[in-house]
Amino acid sequence: MTHYHTLIVGAGYAGYSLAKELRKLDPERSICLISSDSADYYSKPLLSNGFSKQKSASDLVQKTAAQMAAELHIEVSPYCSAEQINPELHQVLTNKGLIQYQQLVLATGASPLRLSLPAATDGLVWSVNDLADYQNFLQQSQNKQKITVLGAGLVGIEYANDLAAAGFQVSVIALEQQPLAQLLPPALGELLQQQLTALGVEFYWGSSIKDAQLAQQQLSLQLTDGRNLTTELILSAVGLKPKLQLAMHAGINCGKGIKVDQTLATSAADIYALGDCAEICGYNLMYIQPISLSARALALTLTGRITPVQFPVMPVIVKSPALAVVSWPAAKEQQGEWVYEGQGMDWMARFQSPSGQLLGFALTGKMVAQRLRLAKEIPALIA
Ligand SMILES: Cc1cc2nc3c(=O)[nH]c(=O)nc-3n(C[C@H](O)[C@H](O)[C@H](O)COP(=O)(O)OP(=O)(O)OC[C@H]3O[C@@H](n4cnc5c(N)ncnc54)[C@H](O)[C@@H]3O)c2cc1C
Repeated sequence: MTHYHTLIVGAGYAGYSLAKELRKLDPERSICLISSDSADYYSKPLLSNGFSKQKSASDLVQKTAAQMAAELHIEVSPYCSAEQINPELHQVLTNKGLIQYQQLVLATGASPLRLSLPAATDGLVWSVNDLADYQNFLQQSQNKQKITVLGAGLVGIEYANDLAAAGFQVSVIALEQQPLAQLLPPALGELLQQQLTALGVEFYWGSSIKDAQLAQQQLSLQLTDGRNLTTELILSAVGLKPKLQLAMHAGINCGKGIKVDQTLATSAADIYALGDCAEICGYNLMYIQPISLSARALALTLTGRITPVQFPVMPVIVKSPALAVVSWPAAKEQQGEWVYEGQGMDWMARFQSPSGQLLGFALTGKMVAQRLRLAKEIPALIA
């Protein structure tokens, strides 16, 4: 059995950010990072911009696992899956053996939600949430022209833009009535739709796939509202769910994600969580900035200076070259109305309470430059 002071499970942005911050604070401690994937270091946000730039998965690798291990002076174990945690004994059972830890950090990410779809679509529906997915989807898209994206949230819309810019005929099918329904008021959703339509993207709102037939590599889709379309490949971007299995089997409290307090501590002694898998004080924020802030705070806590994480307002930047979009949505329960200012492509929409307090905002075009100013007007998410 091997022993490490700090064992990190997961080689995504969360796992590696924590390893970097820890190493800065403590040059000596033994750190091991294990991952069920290759553990190569890459920027996940670039996955939804790669087709138009003709990037292969290997082009997107910034550093290999071995380079990261040497640079950070840590042990990195690729294709090593944590299968079971024993919180009492401070041990993790992996497919490569037992590891003893003093501190364990779960950074296991999230997995794509899968819809139940007609059998004819089998083998033609892909999701992209890591490098291997990206490479598979890229391979599948070779010699194809028509791609359908399921879902019109952040990842679905970024992909619709990227695939259209790469020359594919793109259709988007979504239950909502507009792009980025969680992030934009209808008027700005309409503007974004117009820009994507100008790139050739077709939208099928308020619908989902009811039936499908495959003939000569053309997939005929029948939608629940009676419309039909043909496609050759489907990209499913209908959401992600935090990976909880490992934590749940160890008896660690879980809700939407692995529940942690403001110091990122789980309900089990010496076990912490951050990143897409974590529910931090009730928030499961699957973005880069909260991960950076969490990694910095957790590294301090793990080296003896207990540091609660703080989340300011962190506007979401959508990578849609057809129209620059930034948004900070108000919490669902907040009452208010949208107030608009701007013209052409450049709009500022403020979501204000009846007393005029700014609760959220959405910006397009040149107005995205206002994001930091507006963010300062809204109270922090976790102070
Ligand atoms: C296409 C796309 C575009 C995005 N664009 C943006 C953007 O523009 N801006 C932004 O802020 N955010 C963006 N995001 C979100 C952001 O990239 C994620 O929030 C972030 O990368 C998640 O990092 P993570 O380390 O928590 O999870 P992951 O990157 O999913 O890493 C999880 C790691 O855990 C490992 N693992 C899981 N289970 C086990 C196990 N049992 N044993 C061992 N290892 C395990 C996995 O192999 C993996 O290495 C985007 C996401 C996607 C999918």
